[in-house]
Amino acid sequence: MTYRAHSARYDTMQYRFTGRSGLKLPVISLGLWQNFGGTRDYPSAFEILSYAFDSGITHFDLANNYGPPYGSAEELFGDVLARDFRPYRDELIVSSKAGWDMWPGPYGNFGSRKYLIASADQSLKRMGLDYFDIFYSHRFDPSTPLEETMGALAQLHRQGKTLYVGISNYPEAQTREAYRILADMGVPLLIHQPSYSMLNRWIENDRTIEALGELGVGVIAFSPLAQGILSGKYNAKSDLTGTRAAENYSLSSRSIEPRLLEATEKLAGIARARGQSMVQLALAWVLRRKEMTSALIGVRTLDQLKDNLGVLSNLTLSPEEIAAIDEATKG
Ligand code: NDP
Repeated sequence: MTYRAHSARYDTMQYRFTGRSGLKLPVISLGLWQNFGGTRDYPSAFEILSYAFDSGITHFDLANNYGPPYGSAEELFGDVLARDFRPYRDELIVSSKAGWDMWPGPYGNFGSRKYLIASADQSLKRMGLDYFDIFYSHRFDPSTPLEETMGALAQLHRQGKTLYVGISNYPEAQTREAYRILADMGVPLLIHQPSYSMLNRWIENDRTIEALGELGVGVIAFSPLAQGILSGKYNAKSDLTGTRAAENYSLSSRSIEPRLLEATEKLAGIARARGQSMVQLALAWVLRRKEMTSALIGVRTLDQLKDNLGVLSNLTLSPEEIAAIDEATKG
């Protein structure tokens, strides 16, 4: 059956300008890093992706190596575009990235022009796109001159292969430098994609977030739920079956330390008092900062997506609640 997007899809989502650009992003964006790889069948993937779009999530985030296997999330999203989302291309913001391991040899990783340009072309092909909305340098590479990495982004921008450019995981000093190099080439830096959550505040500690606010660059926070830890489910469960901690390299059960579980127990009380789920509290917290454009979530199931979208009905945190969250997570 032909997919028709919900006519009320823009009624409840909120959108924010990305820094000082004219581009708005939904406050909740959906990433396909995990859960959309080779083992996910089309109907179950489409059920989640179409529900997201029907709820006003216009931004879908990918990278060359999302899967597993590498490339499979882009292939799946390309399939969704070809079969169902194509009429809505102009309502979508699709991003991809290169910078981490992708193919063997010296040209399939890090920050060279050789890698970024070839990888961007491969990603466009996998998704059947003429252009990305945003293309990122996925990480700062100290072994490659930043002029070369930013030059590759500027080239993609000039060629119309990406409308906007971004950086991900760049510390404060390199963020400022990337901004300046791009500006010298006449290309604005649209956005930074760092990790950020109540349990991971590095962008506050090294003042990257202040720099981004000052420069007028947008921020989209990845892993705002600390890969699921902030849902509180690891407190209740001794059986981890069906969770990322049980099945994935990126979150080992050993890394879920007792101090994190203690913090989430306290956070559960704060969420309860607000009449919110824990994930909703975690997302409201990330979005409390004026610099923050969007919280970039991942979901395994449709129910998780629905739970997370519930944050839209209460995004405001009082100073007392923020102080209580700081106290709960300070360990
Ligand atoms: P999250 O912190 O949102 O973690 C997502 C995981 O949390 C889900 O897979 C699920 O895990 C669990 N979860 C989500 N919602 C709920 C819920 N309501 N109740 C219980 N558990 C829940 O983000 P991710 O770490 O997945 O990252 C999100 C996106 O950010 C990625 O898809 C990618 O686009 C981007 N990213 C970018 C990186 C970069 O270097 N630029 C690095 C990492 C991510 P479970 O499997 O246990 O059910």
